[in-house]
Amino acid sequence: MRSVSVFGATGSIGESTFDLLMGQGGRERYRTVVLTGGRNVARLAEMARALGAELAVTAHDECLPALRAALAGSGTAAAAGRSAIVEAADRPADWTMSSIVGAAGLVPGFRALSHGGTLALANKESLVTAGPLLMAQARRHGARILPVDSEHSAVFQALVGEDMATVEHITITASGGAFRDWPLERLARATVSEASTHPNWAMGQRITIDSASMFNKALEMIEAREFFAIEPERIEVLVHPESLVHALVGFRDGGVIAHLGAPDMRHAIGYALNWPDRAHLPVARLDLARIGALTFRAPDPSRYPALRLAREVMAEGGLCGAAFNAAKEAALDAFIDGTIGFTVMPEVVEAVLEALSGEGALGNAPGDLDMVLAVDAMARRRASEVIARRQGS
Ligand code: NAD
Ligand code: MG
Repeated sequence: MRSVSVFGATGSIGESTFDLLMGQGGRERYRTVVLTGGRNVARLAEMARALGAELAVTAHDECLPALRAALAGSGTAAAAGRSAIVEAADRPADWTMSSIVGAAGLVPGFRALSHGGTLALANKESLVTAGPLLMAQARRHGARILPVDSEHSAVFQALVGEDMATVEHITITASGGAFRDWPLERLARATVSEASTHPNWAMGQRITIDSASMFNKALEMIEAREFFAIEPERIEVLVHPESLVHALVGFRDGGVIAHLGAPDMRHAIGYALNWPDRAHLPVARLDLARIGALTFRAPDPSRYPALRLAREVMAEGGLCGAAFNAAKEAALDAFIDGTIGFTVMPEVVEAVLEALSGEGALGNAPGDLDMVLAVDAMARRRASEVIARRQGS
C-alpha cells in the first residue's frame, strides 16, 4: 500500500486530490498518514473518515475542539496549530501533496522532503521563496519533486526523454485573467468580487485574484526557472484565452512540443500521483474539431506590471523571490480587505523590492530556511508601511 499525505486538503487542489484518491481505490489502495486544513473542520473530518487518515490537523488552535468532536470514534487523531502542521510533515509518506496556499506551505513541504519520497508541489510559493534550498533538500534525501501547477506539469511532460541542453525556450500560457479585456482605466476600480472570478479555471480565491493581476504568472515564471534550471531569458509568457494549451517547449531544431488538455487540475495532480504511469483520469476530453480555433497574443506590459517585476526578481536572484512573494501576499491581503485598489498591488510590491534591495538586504543566496523566513517577515513589515501610506488609493 502506498502511503500519502495532503497538506491543504480542504482547498481547491486538496479537494481535487481527495477526489482522485477516492476514485483510484481510496483506503483500499492508499494508507493516508496526514490531512491538514483550515477552519473547515467538518470537511476535514469527513475526508479523514473517508480515507481512514491517521492524523488530521487544523491550522487554527481554536478549531481543535470542533475537529476532535467531528472525528470522535473515527480512529483519526486530531491536532492544531502551525507547529502541529510542521510536525505532521515529519511523519513519513511515500507521496505528499503540498497544496497549502502561500509561504505557509514552505516549511511543511521542506520537511516532507526529508523522507525521500515524492513531493507533489502545487505550492509554487515554496520554489519562488526558497527554490535552491528545496532542490538541495530533495537531492540530499533522494526525494523527488513533481510539478502540479498545470503549466509546469505540461513542461515536465513535454520534456520526457529530452535533453535540457537542446531547449531554446519554455513558454507558459496565461488566460489573461478576469480583466484581460477591460479598458486599462477601469482596472483601478476593480472590486474583489470582480477579481475573484476566473474565466476558465475554478481555483482558490487568492490564486484567482493573482491570475487577474498576473502575479500568478509572475510567480510561475520564477517557479519555471527554479524547477527546470533554465535561464530567465528563455522563459516566455503567452496570453491564450482558451486555457487549453498549458505550455510549449521549443527545441534548437525548431520543433515545438505543446501540451494540451481541459482546464481541470485533476489532470496535473493525477499525473503527479501516478507518475511515471499514466492512469485513466476523470477529466473532459478535448474535441478540437468542435473548438475550432485557439488564439494567442503577447501580454500587454502596461496591463500586467507583475511580469516585469518577475524579470527583475530573476535578474537580481538571491533572496529577492522571498521578498517578492511576501510583499505580494501582503498587498493581496490589503486588496481583499478593501485597504488598497487593484492596481496599487504591484506598486506596493515594487516599492518593497526597491527599498530592501537598495539596503542590500536581498543580494545573498538563501543559506537556510531561517534566512528566507526573516526576509519574508521583513518584506511583510515593509509592505504594511507602504500600504498604510497608500491606504484608500
Ligand atoms: P485554497 O485557498 O483553495 O486552499 C488552501 C489550503 O491551504 C486550504 O486547505 C487551507 O485551509 C490551507 N491553508 C491556508 N492558509 C494556511 C496556513 N496559513 N497554514 C496552513 N494551512 C493553510 O488554495 P488552492 O487554490 O487550492 O491553492 C493551493 C496552492 O496550489 C497554492 O500555492 C496555489 O498557488 C497552487 N495552485 C493552485 C491551483 C488551483 O487550481 N487552485 C493551480 C495551480 C497551483
Ligand atoms: Mg498555473
